Amino acid sequence: MTAQVIDGTAVARQVREDVAKGVQELLAAGGTAPGLATVLIGDDPASEVYVRNKRKLCVAAGMQDLHRHLPGDVGQEEAAALIDELAADPAVSGILLQLPVPKHLDSEALLARIPAEKDVDGLTAANAGLLAQGRPGLRPCTPSGVMVLLDEAGVSLQGAEAVVVGRSVLVGKPMAQLLLERNATVTICHSRTRDLAEVCRRADVLVVAAGIPGLVGADAVKPGATVIDVGIHRGENGLHGDVDTAAVAEVAGSITPVPGGVGPMTIAMLLANTLEAAKVQQGRGD
Ligand code: ADP
Repeated sequence: MTAQVIDGTAVARQVREDVAKGVQELLAAGGTAPGLATVLIGDDPASEVYVRNKRKLCVAAGMQDLHRHLPGDVGQEEAAALIDELAADPAVSGILLQLPVPKHLDSEALLARIPAEKDVDGLTAANAGLLAQGRPGLRPCTPSGVMVLLDEAGVSLQGAEAVVVGRSVLVGKPMAQLLLERNATVTICHSRTRDLAEVCRRADVLVVAAGIPGLVGADAVKPGATVIDVGIHRGENGLHGDVDTAAVAEVAGSITPVPGGVGPMTIAMLLANTLEAAKVQQGRGD
């Protein structure tokens, strides 16, 4: 392998330590500890694991764990009432509705009730709009985690060719906008892109978030490019991404592994967003 491996686990740990320091500074300045309200509806085992990790790292960073759990058969009105209660509670700095919610519920209607300033997942229409307009707001965790990884790896974005594979609301679209904000020349590929490999080969920075195992192979990578793999798939022999890592590592200049790349950054950025939200709410934003 020739590519340098970008260590997301180490960068995420650093971000969490910085957040923990920020929490102590907020307390020392007379503020109150940020509170994160994770909301889990039902008992999907994967969601339970994700929420447990978020709560654990929230406590480790010195924040208040204000977790709430609703039964899987809860009605829309009752779920909406819980979001409204958390929205009005000054101890709650951030609200995270764990997705997916049970099928009988309207997740978009629930997300829409989260005030923009408590939307630490950055998924509401209000925050998506602020990002699209280049105005300050809470950014989605996964793409902002990718930006931190790129900065830590010393990747220069100004004028660089960046290609994003995927146009989801969660990752692809905000990813493209964040890269654009940093003056990259951004191309977005999606399921109808005619020659994916050809477009990807233009990239100095290639971010892959299509949800398809092994979609990007060595033929799609320019020698020396930085390749960021957002995909995560559970296979028979462990976790894999959207990139054929072994083959691409022979061509790329640097690459994120799966696991241990983008994954750990997402929760770290959630904590960073929660701290930022608390500071703004307490009149101590930058
Ligand atoms: P995530 O939440 O990880 O961003 P989603 O599964 O929600 O992923 O979205 C998948 C995205 O990948 C979509 O935006 C879709 O356009 C894109 N996509 C799907 N197939 C391909 C493909 N063959 N080539 C490029 N992009 C694709």
